[in-house]
Amino acid sequence: MSTGAAVANPWLAAPIEIAGVTPELAGVATYHMRFRDAKRHAQFRFRPGQFNMLYLPGVGEIAISLSGAGGLGGTWDHTIRVAGNVTRALADLGPGGSLGLRGPYGSWWPVEETAGADLVVVAGGIGLAPLRPVLDAWLAAPKRLGRCTLLYGGRTPDTLLYAKQHARWADAGVDVQTTVDRADVGWTGNVGVVPLLLDRIRPLVPKNTVLLVCGPEVMMRYAVLSGLARGLAKEQIWVSLERNMQCAVGLCGHCQLGPAFVCKDGPIFRYDKIEPYFDVEGL
Ligand SMILES: Cc1cc2nc3c(=O)[nH]c(=O)nc-3n(C[C@H](O)[C@H](O)[C@H](O)COP(=O)(O)OP(=O)(O)OC[C@H]3O[C@@H](n4cnc5c(N)ncnc54)[C@H](O)[C@@H]3O)c2cc1C
Repeated sequence: MSTGAAVANPWLAAPIEIAGVTPELAGVATYHMRFRDAKRHAQFRFRPGQFNMLYLPGVGEIAISLSGAGGLGGTWDHTIRVAGNVTRALADLGPGGSLGLRGPYGSWWPVEETAGADLVVVAGGIGLAPLRPVLDAWLAAPKRLGRCTLLYGGRTPDTLLYAKQHARWADAGVDVQTTVDRADVGWTGNVGVVPLLLDRIRPLVPKNTVLLVCGPEVMMRYAVLSGLARGLAKEQIWVSLERNMQCAVGLCGHCQLGPAFVCKDGPIFRYDKIEPYFDVEGL
């Protein structure tokens, strides 16, 4: 399986199109993509946690994680929140819209590498998007991969992503636990920040557990602390870091974090490798 950029020239974007759009939340949608070139489309592979660079001519280029595959006749997915110029222009394109792609890039969640260990997936807000392929991988091989727990939090119930899929994941055997910072009248579930769910989950066998964490940085810090307090070693915890990036191939230095380039050495880091820089705000 090729997981590096499939084009020889790292600056060359390949033409892709938006095959369909699934609205998710206010300002958030999942875009189902395919290459214009059928052969290139058939060859495209990625691993959970990797990202693409999406290029809108005349507007800009952004890093976006892959959030799924296999929909709409073999498309792959990007779940995107409108944040500024490029994401707004992308939302305006709609189905049939054309753009460019470089990728996939970056490191991945260690799903295959830790096969047999119990997976505890901790996500906050749109941080569930880069983790959804982990759940898909688990659903494809639940026996081989050990138990899977999803601990997912949002600010309010209407900010929880992929809500319709939570029941499907639970039916397939994932222990799905959700929480919100602020409940509304219809919410009967947990209230509180997502690391609290990690403090409470039972059973948890520290030696045989891998923690995968993605969300706002403050939430990731507390989730890491909670994981360590539950007896996990630093080597069993993986975090996803986002930094503004431009080249995506470790040349320009925009996403440098200490000695690492987030685009090339990340965005998924084993915690012990990134610990000295993880707590430094704004680095
Ligand atoms: C590896 C990686 C994966 C990502 N995956 C996703 C994803 O799956 N879905 C998604 O919606 N977004 C994702 N992002 C963030 C996305 O790249 C930015 O939101 C996007 O660049 C905003 O572009 P824009 O031109 O629309 O907004 P801009 O006008 O560039 O920015 C709008 C606001 O967002 C801030 N911003 C821009 N880029 C980042 C960033 N990388 N981190 C934090 N703040 C930023 C800006 O400082 C500004 O405040 C990812 C970023 C990285 C580095």
